[in-house]
Amino acid sequence: MIPSVLPTYNRAPLEFVKGEGAWLIAADGRRFLDLGSGIAVNALGHAHPALVDALTAQAQNLWHVSNLYHIPQQQALADKLVEHTFADTVFFTNSGTEACELAVKMARKYFYDKDQPERVEIITFDGSFHGRSSAGIAAAGSEKMTKGFGPLLPGFVHLAFGDLDGVTNAISETTAAIMIEPVQGEGGIRVVPDAELKALRQICDENGLLLILDEVQCGVGRTGKLFAHEWAGVAPDIMMVAKGIGGGFPLGAVLATEEAASGMTAGTHGSTYGGNPLGCAVGCAVMDHVADPDFLAEVNRKAGLLRQKLEGLSADHPEIFEEVRGSGLMLGLKCKAANIDVVNAGYDNALITVPAADNVIRLLPPLTLTDEDIAEAVNRLDKTAAQIESA
Ligand SMILES: *Cc1c(COP(=O)(O)O)cnc(C)c1O
Repeated sequence: MIPSVLPTYNRAPLEFVKGEGAWLIAADGRRFLDLGSGIAVNALGHAHPALVDALTAQAQNLWHVSNLYHIPQQQALADKLVEHTFADTVFFTNSGTEACELAVKMARKYFYDKDQPERVEIITFDGSFHGRSSAGIAAAGSEKMTKGFGPLLPGFVHLAFGDLDGVTNAISETTAAIMIEPVQGEGGIRVVPDAELKALRQICDENGLLLILDEVQCGVGRTGKLFAHEWAGVAPDIMMVAKGIGGGFPLGAVLATEEAASGMTAGTHGSTYGGNPLGCAVGCAVMDHVADPDFLAEVNRKAGLLRQKLEGLSADHPEIFEEVRGSGLMLGLKCKAANIDVVNAGYDNALITVPAADNVIRLLPPLTLTDEDIAEAVNRLDKTAAQIESA
């Protein structure tokens, strides 16, 4: 008999009842160190007082009004995002994949309005992940996500990760945009080198294309910059954001330049919930923390400390781990053992990590984790590796 919850997930036999900072407390009282953050969502950890205050204060006044009216919390969050990024304008969604939907629509509408309606194609890369909507799965294109769900949304050209020559060759009079994650998350914490992002920006400029960055996972302070593309010193035309921006409240956004957004006039797009007062009140509190240079400096310091310890761990367990990779607090341990065995053995040691493609385990801790949490994380990873070695 089908479970009452549609069984689209292979769930671990864990149930959490409370969260505190980087810690999750299970129903049986066990305290798990959370290096997953709900997949890079709980950027400020669990039950951060500023987020609890923002949500409860807003909840006592007004939960929801339609986007038919002005929403001051939404205006405030948009202003903060515009102030701190390349963007001139922001549309709020409830999720990353809805941000992907709008990014695709925006790019097509841009060229339609420029009398180039034939420019509909978007170049994407193997191993990418843009969510589970029809546009999202068509954009990523992997068989795992698309099989059985055809006909797929047309207009995506898939290239090998890092295939810059392929990009140049794939561009034609029907190309509209290039869409890429600066650091692939689901794909196995694969960092796009700065030089490559720069080259993609240049290719877009030379060919009149839009650069769409998917920073749903790598954005909002995760890599030690507010957004990951800042490391490369280039800016996109359109950017997808979600996960960390809501700190646990479902919230996403599309950020764009005035030029790229020029086709999105009144009536061309909408959302019932996107940008509602509750979500944006929390988003403002998240931004007030993560956009602070001192906060980002701390992320970088802790990232350096964690990475250094992980390099040691990896060297100590050459049969379990192969490589440490990633950027900031978006780290991956490429495994020699099966990654899922490492994740499961981690649960035995009350440690949460997240599997990814390419036999990687992801470490996406709350950006607020402490130095003691880091020491404990590496201690538990060490125990986990030793447990697999002796099995
Ligand atoms: C998680 C993710 C998405 C999809 O976000 P949802 O909120 O699950 O729809 C899109 N792109 C990237 C890079 C992601 O990591």
